[in-house]
Amino acid sequence: MQLLLMGPPGAGKGTQAVKLVEKYKIPQISTGDMFRAAVKEGTELGKKAKACMDAGTLVPDEVTVGIVRERLAKDDCKGGFILDGFPRTVEQAKALEKILDELNLKLTKVLNIRVPAEFLIERAVGRRICKGCGATYHVKFNAPKVEDTCDNCGGKLYQRADDTEETMKKRLSVYEESTRPLIEYYEKVGLYTEVDGRQPIEKVTEELENVLNSVEG
Ligand code: ADP
Ligand code: ADP
Ligand code: ZN
Repeated sequence: MQLLLMGPPGAGKGTQAVKLVEKYKIPQISTGDMFRAAVKEGTELGKKAKACMDAGTLVPDEVTVGIVRERLAKDDCKGGFILDGFPRTVEQAKALEKILDELNLKLTKVLNIRVPAEFLIERAVGRRICKGCGATYHVKFNAPKVEDTCDNCGGKLYQRADDTEETMKKRLSVYEESTRPLIEYYEKVGLYTEVDGRQPIEKVTEELENVLNSVEG
């Protein structure tokens, strides 16, 4: 399955992608995670991405499309993948179409986790991530058993630098302007489905799996 997981910042894309990775044994491709790894390693890519990420704006399309093209060409994507947080602009969606054509692949489904703006700042500001294994928590909605400590690996939890109220406001306005138009783009090609992302995490997973079961079956 070649899946695309969409939704505004903080909607739960990463959280749900991890569940789908487990169930369908296909890799998650998160441009945000790739940029954060590059920033941490101090690579050229990281330098290009950092200022945009800190400001809550999008990394330029040519940079983003380049890393996705390289990633999708790897062997582990041959049996399917979950794109998480890419595409975020219509330009990126068009570039993705070309990349997939070249690889002789087609998107199976576009899944949008729909969450109204008033939920999203609280979700992002309360988000915590494990330094050790990258697992995502929330101080209120998905709290670890021991405060600031990962249930899986015992690692310490940290907060993303861009998960502030101020940066989130910017990210939400960028979403409205640049990313929301993708809904119509994918509706037109008949691949689009949405689930109600205001529900508890397990319920959202169940609905996504129901959608995918009907595709598979
Ligand atoms: P969120 O969890 O808010 O959806 P991500 O982790 O996906 O955020 O992305 C964090 C930041 O990385 C974005 O604010 C943006 O600066 C950059 N980024 C991630 N994906 C893309 C993309 N497809 N195009 C441009 N910039 C991106
Ligand atoms: P995204 O990748 O779309 O930015 P995340 O998966 O990182 O979103 O989720 C953002 C925050 O909201 C995290 O702290 C996560 O634990 C929490 N979260 C995810 N899904 C839900 C949900 N259905 N209800 C409440 N909180 C959620
Ligand atoms: Zn961990």
